[in-house]
Amino acid sequence: MKVDLHVHTTASDGLLSPKDIIVKAKENGINTLAIADHDTIDGISEGMKAANEKGIKLIPALEISAKHEKQIHMLGYFIDYTDLKFQSFVNKLKNSREDRNQKMLKKLGKFGFEITMEELKANAEGNIGRPHIADIMVKKGYVSTFPEAFEKYIGNDKPCYVPKERPDIRKAIEIIRKYKGVPVLAHPKYTFLEGEELENFIAYLSDIGLGGLEVYYSKHNKEEEACYLKLAKKYSLIPTAGSDYHREGDAFGMELKKEYLDKLLSLKDI
Ligand code: AMP
Ligand code: ZN
Ligand code: FE
Ligand code: FE
Repeated sequence: MKVDLHVHTTASDGLLSPKDIIVKAKENGINTLAIADHDTIDGISEGMKAANEKGIKLIPALEISAKHEKQIHMLGYFIDYTDLKFQSFVNKLKNSREDRNQKMLKKLGKFGFEITMEELKANAEGNIGRPHIADIMVKKGYVSTFPEAFEKYIGNDKPCYVPKERPDIRKAIEIIRKYKGVPVLAHPKYTFLEGEELENFIAYLSDIGLGGLEVYYSKHNKEEEACYLKLAKKYSLIPTAGSDYHREGDAFGMELKKEYLDKLLSLKDI
């Protein structure tokens, strides 16, 4: 089945609005989609409306940046985005981003790159993150390409990078479960763990309530897919598929066995 269970919109750092991503899904023959913006559910209502009009099944989701040695991204499917307590938890994540952006701009200032919060906000509609900063750096001629901004300045562990204040992984899983969601580990490739270390980590997450593993991801190769699928089976995790689409030029749409999609869909409201 052609699905895409991991796309971003203008509610975080994607370039298409929730409505436009639904239109794109329709054009691409995708009938099950999940909007999983970084630390926000602000795009879901608009997406739901458009999805209903276009006859697309939209799974409400989000992608929480969580803490565990390095950065870990936890997807939450079917979360109750209308719950006020959940919204308040998510808003706290948003506010901590604001502080972090301030700190990154200050560091960039030390390199002679002048970017103000106002400029950053003028170029973004939703949750502001590093891609917005990178875009401005290109626009102002501070770097010549978008990847260069990350490679030299704002990539993880580069001089102007500031980590976000994040919930730890256990808390992220707990919160997703509490608000009726299914926690799924995004892009296992970016845990940068392999072999026994990866397996121990997956075993631990599975013990604390993980429900699925993003086995199929636009940047996983066949070998990685096979490895993650094996782990998913061993630890009874549902394999999911997502492209992580942000902007034109990114992969969009993924193949997922109907059996796996049905399994995920069956967990709604449990
Ligand atoms: P943030 O949530 O603000 O830390 O930004 C994370 C986003 O930045 C990711 O979802 C990617 O879209 C982008 N990103 C992170 N590292 C890189 C990189 N090395 N090259 C290009 N984009 C990156
Ligand atoms: Zn992103
Ligand atoms: Fe991610
Ligand atoms: Fe993502």
